[in-house]
Amino acid sequence: MKGYHGRFLEVDLSTRKMTDLTLPEEFLKKYIGGATLAAALIYDRFSKELAPLAPENPLVLATGPFTGTPLPMVSRYAVGGISPLTGFWGEATSGGKFPFRLKGAGWDGILVKGKADRPVYLYLKEGQAEIRDAARLWGQDSYQAQKTIKDELGDDSVSIACIGSSGEKLIKYAAIMNDNGRAAGRCGLGALMGSKNLKAVVASGNLRPELSNPEKVRDLAKQAVAQINGNLVSVAFREYGTMMYMDMAMTLGDAPAKYFTKSVFPVSKVTGQALRQAYLVKNYACLGCPIGCGRELMDFKPGMNVDGPEYETAVAFGPLCLNTDLDSIIRANHLCNTHGIDTISTGVSVAYAFYLYDLGVLTRNQVGFEVKWGDGEAVVKLTEMIIAQEGIGKILSQGTLAMAKAFGRSADEAAQVKGLEMPMHEGRAFHGMALSYATGPRGACHLKGDYYNVDLGNMVLEYMILPSERLSSEGKSEGAAKYQSLKDLFDSLALCKFAPITPTQLCEMLNAITGWQFAPKDILAAGDRSINLKRALSNKLGLTREHDRLPKICLAALDEGTTAGVEPDMEKMLKGYYQFRGWDWETGRPTKEKLLELELNQVAAEMYP
Ligand code: SF4
Repeated sequence: MKGYHGRFLEVDLSTRKMTDLTLPEEFLKKYIGGATLAAALIYDRFSKELAPLAPENPLVLATGPFTGTPLPMVSRYAVGGISPLTGFWGEATSGGKFPFRLKGAGWDGILVKGKADRPVYLYLKEGQAEIRDAARLWGQDSYQAQKTIKDELGDDSVSIACIGSSGEKLIKYAAIMNDNGRAAGRCGLGALMGSKNLKAVVASGNLRPELSNPEKVRDLAKQAVAQINGNLVSVAFREYGTMMYMDMAMTLGDAPAKYFTKSVFPVSKVTGQALRQAYLVKNYACLGCPIGCGRELMDFKPGMNVDGPEYETAVAFGPLCLNTDLDSIIRANHLCNTHGIDTISTGVSVAYAFYLYDLGVLTRNQVGFEVKWGDGEAVVKLTEMIIAQEGIGKILSQGTLAMAKAFGRSADEAAQVKGLEMPMHEGRAFHGMALSYATGPRGACHLKGDYYNVDLGNMVLEYMILPSERLSSEGKSEGAAKYQSLKDLFDSLALCKFAPITPTQLCEMLNAITGWQFAPKDILAAGDRSINLKRALSNKLGLTREHDRLPKICLAALDEGTTAGVEPDMEKMLKGYYQFRGWDWETGRPTKEKLLELELNQVAAEMYP
């Protein structure tokens, strides 16, 4: 087998038993890697009777066939498990050095089950695995814990994925942090890790699986780097990070403001350019990436360097709270990174608190201070209260759906889909995006797919995914479904979604690495299989069509900006989507025929006994 080690490390923290799981080539060909492989491994190992944080529920960290190869933008890994936030399938991805090191340690990934009787960390080094005591690390924040481990090992070359205090406290949207400020942020998988008393996974080594055609892989890598360097968006990412999109997003009505009730906001103080002007910025990259979209803000406070906010974070703590104070946005982001918590769910929950305060539902007495739109200090204080689990922060830390329930408000006010908070791209500005949110495998997800990119001209000719009128719901269903499958595949291969690589190139790369003979239609089928597998997993946990909906607060027409008067026609788009996907309109499940077509025979047998 080429491109893979063909083995996964299975760790039972209850018994401290570690075994190698052999992954046959046919299995890998079907599920490819990353989040899809995680779903395939978890499918048989969970039960709907169990709570998401039950020790039996596994947590998977998985690389893909691209990880560890000379290709650019492939130091990525995925985390998968049942989400403590949503109760359905949950996944998150991250880049950095950790993914290369994880594969370099000699496994394609790890599956962790059970619960250690005291805090531990896993140490993986070139084929050797050890469970080590982490009592002294428990209580340390994510930056401290990474430093302590490196100091103790006397090895700065190891790479670490860990939880901060939020994962230890089982906060429902806790993240897993790696390589300082990189985050597998969404779905609360940091809480799943914390529930196992697993503080960190430490990876070291350079074991690389053999490649089928190493020369071809090197050539393709060279071509891809040239292509990336000549790409306008890639260049802008290098200069300004993902915040470079801020002003264009506001122009298009794509960045939500005032808790999804406005689309016009004086954005100039919180753009990528403003960040660069006000702070000394150094960019950093995941291993092998020629872009380097990460921002390090040097001497943010005297002697203190911090990781800069991404676009999603900057909008959530900024315009969504009507906040133009860049300093407070950076501090809130740094708090989230330090304590390991998802910036999107935190920011949306904080913005909802502003909204409720404005309505008089939340009072100064309940909060302890005033929460007035635009108050950056209140943004930071509420974030601190979430992390400290203090006062009202305890309710905010459960996410917007739980907040709506706690304050007697309608679920239509909770900005989430399936319990996962909305990202910072407006479904009203790009109707295909609204459909992606409604049907995404992990809930409101801006990465599967980032359909706004299609309507901004990023067409995929192999699948005839073409731009169309962004403010219309006509003709979106098929394109959005196909694009979702393609972007899902990026997470299986372990390729950064910012890579401007076509399906034809993806096939060439995959084939040169593995020796397989994939054509564009095969990788689209692999993406379809992945979407359906994750869907079936969530169906098993109680997901129905009723869950494929956006709350009214994110749908109702606004009266300003470029999206004024526009409301996506969800029923029309969903009907077309279900038809294209082969999903049953009554139950929200993939039909038996669709599952069999995708060779998900076991899933079909279980779903349709
Ligand atoms: S573009 Fe950014 S996230 Fe993607 S690989 Fe490069 S540095 Fe990492």
